[in-house]
Amino acid sequence: MKPNIGIMAKLFLWYFVLVSIFYGTIVILFIHIQEIVRISEEVVNQNYRISTASKKLIDSLLWMEENISKYDLLKKEDYKEHFVSAQREFEENLNNILTLPSEREASESVWRGIYHDYLAHVPPAYGAAEETESAHALWIPVEIINGWIQRISRARTKNEQEIESEMRRLNRRGRTAVQYGMVGLAVSILVGLLGTYFLTHSMNRPLRELRKGIGSISRKGLSDPIPILTKDELGQLAAAFNEMAQRLKEEERMRSDFVSMLSHEIRTPLTSIRESVNLIAEEVMGPVNERQRRFLTIASDEITRISELLNHLMQISRLEAGLIEIDPKPLDPHAFVIGSVHRMAPAAEAKGISLESDVPPGLPRVKGDADHLQQVLLNLVGNAIKFSPRGKAVSVRVEIVEEEGGEKVRFSVSDAGPGIPEDEQGLIFYKYYRASGVRQQVDGVGLGLSISKQIVEAHGGAIWVKSQVGSGSTFGFTLPVLREG
Ligand code: ADP
Repeated sequence: MKPNIGIMAKLFLWYFVLVSIFYGTIVILFIHIQEIVRISEEVVNQNYRISTASKKLIDSLLWMEENISKYDLLKKEDYKEHFVSAQREFEENLNNILTLPSEREASESVWRGIYHDYLAHVPPAYGAAEETESAHALWIPVEIINGWIQRISRARTKNEQEIESEMRRLNRRGRTAVQYGMVGLAVSILVGLLGTYFLTHSMNRPLRELRKGIGSISRKGLSDPIPILTKDELGQLAAAFNEMAQRLKEEERMRSDFVSMLSHEIRTPLTSIRESVNLIAEEVMGPVNERQRRFLTIASDEITRISELLNHLMQISRLEAGLIEIDPKPLDPHAFVIGSVHRMAPAAEAKGISLESDVPPGLPRVKGDADHLQQVLLNLVGNAIKFSPRGKAVSVRVEIVEEEGGEKVRFSVSDAGPGIPEDEQGLIFYKYYRASGVRQQVDGVGLGLSISKQIVEAHGGAIWVKSQVGSGSTFGFTLPVLREG
């Protein structure tokens, strides 16, 4: 079963995942950067300070040593002073190292060892030395100083190694942070794209089905139920659409049943009326004068018109219910067109219209129900005559055309009538539709083209119109060529 998640919830979920990845990446980067800052602070505050101070320590010790040697040779008081200032500097730098936080915490360290040794050898202050009158009491033995220099040098080298290893750690951390950042970026791009794809996909499919259903309703007035693909708002919309389509179908069926029932009911009394009118007109009931005959003719024409209308109404409901059977047989287009033109000739003549036909010889045969197809052609020619002004020409053409799906025979009827506005051309094939320009002026009920369309489509053909307001119309239909032999 599909989970019942709405569009909003899906969007939120997607947004939440994206934001989690985004903030997750930021948190990881933040932790790494903090570590990098900590390591670099350690290096700067401790190792570098030890490095500089230890260098100064060595310098001071060397300076002390030099002054001892010089004093021993030259006995000048200045060397004593220099020695003492070097000693102070030494103490100061050693102190600098010992006050570093890491040194304070460390229980054992080289620097502390040197410091203790130094305290053991520390000479009396400069003034006090003079009082002892022994110059050598002032000095720290040179061997001791050398020992310290060596110890400091070793500690210094160790410190340099520590700096190097910390630098490597920094580099590793930096690289890992970059990797995490890249992975986070890639994952968020992937999730973003996949989310967009799945969300649009999950909305597009139901929308496509809905569009198909709506298209079918606007074309045919009916639609089959569309599949309900999701359980979100679009799924609900699809369900509501199906309900509406079902109701439309039901109402259409009821209307069609009603029209069919009504037509049947009217047809029986109409036949009796027609018979009675005919009997009177044939003077079976006694002589009829000229005036009475005129009225009888009008009545007979009207009865014919109504029964044609009833026939059309019944035919369309039977076509829609699939009750009319098409009995296809090989059909010669030439004979078929000539026969129809011949039948329409009196109507054309009555309106002073020249009815022309252009049927090349040797056309291939088509497969169709001659009666039904003739009804189509008669309807098209009849409309052309009906809508053409007096004295114009109507021409019927047949030609062979190459279309998608093979060779077809195309029948077309052109007139020089008023034409049909472009926005109405798609509508005239619907039942009862009549173009706005002719509705008031020309008789009709708007069923002929709808019936023709159904008949042509039942033959696997297509019906069409090309028209321009003011310059006439061409109606036509194509039928597939019969493959013989
Ligand atoms: P009817 O002719 O009874 O109105 P049809 O279904 O045959 O019904 O035609 C539907 C409508 O199409 C007509 O009312 C008219 O508006 C338009 N039409 C059909 N044929 C032509 C034509 N040859 N010229 C102009 N308009 C036409």
